[in-house]
Amino acid sequence: MKSLALPWTLFLLFAAGSGSAAGACGPDALGTSRVLTLKHEYAAYGTVQYGPLPLQIGEVVLTFDDGPLPETLDRVLQALEAQCAKATFFMTGANLAKYPELGQRVVRAGHTPALHSFAHPSLKSMTTAAQLADLEQGMQSFGAVFGHAPAAYRFPFLEETPATLAVLKERKITVASVDVGIDDYKPNDMRSAALVERLVQRLHAAGGGIVLMHDANAATAEALPALLNAIRDNGYKVVQLRWE
Ligand SMILES: [Zn+2]
Repeated sequence: MKSLALPWTLFLLFAAGSGSAAGACGPDALGTSRVLTLKHEYAAYGTVQYGPLPLQIGEVVLTFDDGPLPETLDRVLQALEAQCAKATFFMTGANLAKYPELGQRVVRAGHTPALHSFAHPSLKSMTTAAQLADLEQGMQSFGAVFGHAPAAYRFPFLEETPATLAVLKERKITVASVDVGIDDYKPNDMRSAALVERLVQRLHAAGGGIVLMHDANAATAEALPALLNAIRDNGYKVVQLRWE
């Protein structure tokens, strides 16, 4: 009997531990249902431009672009923590260089870091040399903060260029586009209710997928608790992306 007692003790300790974590989120938290681990390779996901991620219907991947910024990051991280929801942050090299501590906070909170160019330029309007210089500078800023190269990259304005794409392929960096946006980057109705309505309509139309939001946008930061509630209340499950 004694040999059975130890595993049970461990089980109870584990159960108590996970129970208290769920309690910290509230029993009805959105949570993170699973982790999708991707290979360190060139691939491209997001049906706005490419093929879909291997997700089930009803699964969503939360992604945030353009940060990290001191004005909004706290609220965004708090909203995610309150729901135990994990996201991928596509950060610019310029913001990482300016606020390395904020980048580290994103990772310490359990989220996945990725790169979103250095200066967020319109790559299509630049020379090849200038495009590659932006990528290089972005890679350097990212490496300086996280100690490794980014596994994923999102083009600013989703504007893919052949020269940048060739380097991403060579370096086995995955390109992430989008399935569902909430248009929180253009002149628009930015009230929380409008952002929620857009999100829910488009999630229903797409059945889930990669959701693009902008953590650097004050309206999005303010709406995030309501956006996450809407994701939960409509039965969607959060999947976190990780790379091997
Ligand atoms: Zn952007």
